[in-house]
Amino acid sequence: MLLVDQARRIAESINDPEVPVLTLGDLGVIRDIYEEEGCAVVCITPTYSGCPASDYINALVSQALEQAGIKAFIKTVLSPAWTTDWLSEDGKQKLSAYGIAPPVDSQSDDLFFEPTVPCPNCQSTHTRQLAEFGSTPCKAHYQCLTCKEPFDYFKCFKRMSA
Ligand SMILES: [Zn+2]
Repeated sequence: MLLVDQARRIAESINDPEVPVLTLGDLGVIRDIYEEEGCAVVCITPTYSGCPASDYINALVSQALEQAGIKAFIKTVLSPAWTTDWLSEDGKQKLSAYGIAPPVDSQSDDLFFEPTVPCPNCQSTHTRQLAEFGSTPCKAHYQCLTCKEPFDYFKCFKRMSA
């Protein structure tokens, strides 16, 4: 049990390589950790499938655990798929404080629905999308029409309804 607790503490405190203000714990990508024959098995669900950071995240976790003397085995869990619903409230606040608009839950199944994204600087809702993809595919680039500041929006990502 101790091994699992220690492994969880280490794994969840690692910063996300794409959005360094968030930890993997904030992202909610560490789905489960259990012990198997003295090895910590860490189940990780990648954020966006095809996100190049996924392999990197796995490497970061196994490295950090190894450095702490924990033998780790990373298991990629693809189902259920990650959604922005798994972001912690703490994580959303950190994003906003960092100048990235947290995901807006559109409550809509329409993939082309464009949410109103409030500006993280001045909270104005007069914002427009400049580019569908920001610094990473997980983000869109927006500009606030009130304070003129450009900002990144962490896209809301939902499970496709079957
Ligand atoms: Zn603004």
